[in-house]
Amino acid sequence: MRALTISKNGGTEQIEVRNDLPMPDLRGPGDVRVRVSAAALNHLDLFVIGGLPGVKLAAPFILGSDACGVIDAVGDDVKHVTVGDYVILNPGISDGTCEYCLDGEQPLCPRYRILGEHVPGTMAEYVVLPGKNAHTIPRSVSSEQAAAFPLATLTAWRMLVSRARVKPGEDVLIWGIGGGVALAALQICKNIGARVWVVSSSDPKLERAAAMGADELLNRNLVDVAKVIREKTAKRGMDVVVDNVGQATWSQSLLALGRRGRLVTCGGTSGPTVETDVRRLFWNQWSLLGSTMGNDAEFEAITNELRAGRLLPPVDSVFSLDDGRLAFERLEKGEQFGKVVVRIS
Ligand SMILES: [Zn+2]
Repeated sequence: MRALTISKNGGTEQIEVRNDLPMPDLRGPGDVRVRVSAAALNHLDLFVIGGLPGVKLAAPFILGSDACGVIDAVGDDVKHVTVGDYVILNPGISDGTCEYCLDGEQPLCPRYRILGEHVPGTMAEYVVLPGKNAHTIPRSVSSEQAAAFPLATLTAWRMLVSRARVKPGEDVLIWGIGGGVALAALQICKNIGARVWVVSSSDPKLERAAAMGADELLNRNLVDVAKVIREKTAKRGMDVVVDNVGQATWSQSLLALGRRGRLVTCGGTSGPTVETDVRRLFWNQWSLLGSTMGNDAEFEAITNELRAGRLLPPVDSVFSLDDGRLAFERLEKGEQFGKVVVRIS
């Protein structure tokens, strides 16, 4: 079968199209095999290509955490999907037996694994995974949008709905509008009825965010983000800040954060170590919230949003499997607005 793989850690030059990989078999009665229609890229893929601490590369390793496709084979224990069903995939795989899984918090599972990070990924003609990770969706959702949906939307949903608990009328600041998680966060916040402030260094990206409902646009190259926010809110500040940039934006995020504000993060693309003045933390009664991926109930919730057409991810560009490396180069440059997709079959 064909797949987009790496055999060594490094840069995007390590990406190669393979035509000679064996078709994967079901490993147990709970598994399904999916014939992949399209797969989408995430920033996580760039970290995987670069090499992650504690993750040993099994070459050739298939990239990709997001996909949609058609069920091709089902194990005997799988009842909720059948051959021919159109599905999206929950990229997070948990053991189902530990205290966190039993509590419904799968991303905290000590044996949590992610497609394309710890186990072979989705940028292949076929992928095998636990049947419970496959969720049926209507054929009316395009394969590009379906593939673009799971990881970013799941991550944003947990951040905004479960962790920060955004309420109607609240002010939310989102850094780096254009990325998949940031755009999903914007859509989720607008659906809740929040007022959303978005930041980018690109005016075209800010204009496109405005077309999606963003209320206030801040070009970080032209204005002091925290200063403008304090001026425009009469010093009140934000109720919620979404900061996945880390080192480069943390101090601005805290300056923009109002009393009882919640800062929620799922990553730090500019660097991992940040500084927080503990006096301001307790005096303002802030909550600093970490979040990663999402649990099974949250995946079901976002799938229902997709089925109802309430959340549909913007797609930036679509590449063929043969041009897969170009897709990663586009993501690496950070020029995209929305998800970068690879069409598989
Ligand atoms: Zn577990």
